[in-house]
Amino acid sequence: MPERLILVTNDDGLWAPGLACLAQVASRFGRVVAVAPDRNRSAISSALSLHDILRISELGPDRHTCDGTPVDCVLIACRSVLERKPDWVLSGVNHGFNLGEDVFYSGTVAAAFEGSLQGARAAAFSLHPKGDLAVAEAWIHRFLSSWEQLPLPPQRIWNLNLPKREPKGFRLTTQDTRSYHDVVEKRIDPRGTPYYWIGGDVGPIYAKSPGSDAEAALDDFVSVTPLHLDLTAPDLLARRSDFDAAFNGDGM
Ligand code: MN
Repeated sequence: MPERLILVTNDDGLWAPGLACLAQVASRFGRVVAVAPDRNRSAISSALSLHDILRISELGPDRHTCDGTPVDCVLIACRSVLERKPDWVLSGVNHGFNLGEDVFYSGTVAAAFEGSLQGARAAAFSLHPKGDLAVAEAWIHRFLSSWEQLPLPPQRIWNLNLPKREPKGFRLTTQDTRSYHDVVEKRIDPRGTPYYWIGGDVGPIYAKSPGSDAEAALDDFVSVTPLHLDLTAPDLLARRSDFDAAFNGDGM
């Protein structure tokens, strides 16, 4: 069996400590190639650069930056930089959680999804901003030692969130919901023109629904959420007769 080929990427940029941590763990499981953005590209989701040229810089053996997005990195790595498709695509370790609906904004999660679309087994890793990478490393090692025991069908990834303190264990979770307070701040610049700042001072407030990712991660478990790219809503799909009555009925 050929050596496992592992692509490591992130959305915080190639020099982020989380990427070094992930590459270090991954190197125990195969040959690691890092292709990551040349700067912080957090919250860029699945953006793809269709109207810009992209450059790859080789900084060392199996270590490259790209001036595009995390998804650009995975796509170019899988289609051009690597001599074959990677077996694993690992994204992170992100500086900060990717819980609840934040998975939609996350470049970390998007890179993992791109890995799954390229046929690899993929996972995203995120750590509490005050979490300890040395502690996270041991738990990521434990996860990667076992994750091939479970099938991972196409269009699916594992989304891991590692807590601030030493984890009590792994917990299989659902995606929570969250809200932001004062998410858009309007300020006035020195010339009197308004400008806007997205993010606010207060972090997200999670619903902490039972069994959710936020509940687990805030309760000091490693939250492991299986995510699916198919966004179809089964509850609305089940209301086919109501749909037909509304849109295809006699009243049309
Ligand atoms: Mn990030």
